[in-house]
Amino acid sequence: MSYGRVFPVRRDQRFLAAWASDPGKVRAANEDSCFADAGYGLFLVADGMGGEQAGALASETVTTALPQLLGKRLGPPGTPSRSTPSLALRDGILELSARLRHESAGKPGVRGLGSTVVAALVRGTEVHLAHLGDSRAYLYRQGKLRQLTRDHSVLRSLLRQGKLTREEARVHPARSQLSRFVGMEGEANPDVEQLLAEPGDRLLLCSDGLTTMLEDAEIAATLREEGDVEEACRALVRKANAAGGRDNVTAMLVDFANV
Ligand code: MN
Repeated sequence: MSYGRVFPVRRDQRFLAAWASDPGKVRAANEDSCFADAGYGLFLVADGMGGEQAGALASETVTTALPQLLGKRLGPPGTPSRSTPSLALRDGILELSARLRHESAGKPGVRGLGSTVVAALVRGTEVHLAHLGDSRAYLYRQGKLRQLTRDHSVLRSLLRQGKLTREEARVHPARSQLSRFVGMEGEANPDVEQLLAEPGDRLLLCSDGLTTMLEDAEIAATLREEGDVEEACRALVRKANAAGGRDNVTAMLVDFANV
């Protein structure tokens, strides 16, 4: 398991953040990537696909290129910019997707290359979220866990139409097929939303390796029991592995302890 934490670098920042990531119990390589920059208030989780090396390459492209694409649009934190965080996230992800698609086009062995992304840009108490695919953001507030993102998955529409139960979806062969992702054909339009953080909030960003192994209630219980931001991430990953660890698993947590 790899893990770490970041600390605020300015007085106006009121969060602590950490992450943990692991290949799991079945996969040889970890195709998940994550990125945390306290100074920029930027937190990313990406889950690559396209088979081992290509998948890792895709998710690493997200976590290395997206911070640059956002920086280009927003400039250094605290400086005036022409773009808003939400616009910068949307446009940055669109450009990132087109770039990944062009880079992988024609390369042998990288067919189907792509990645999910879930991004949180924290400015004061404002949290700007964007995502593509089935990596998720959750908000743990006042003891309750709420999923903030809706998976861009092929199965979700079947679930919504009642053609599939949650239990059937969990083991369905097409469960990992995404309807939107970084590197897809056409416009990769991310869902973007905002929320205001409150004292005690915990924002969780995670790959599907966590949410396919653990029920929301188990995730909530872990966030209730583990006060330390890094220990909570490690506990989530340990529990996903204990439940089978069938996929790479990444958990990143931003704690707004003293907003
Ligand atoms: Mn995954």
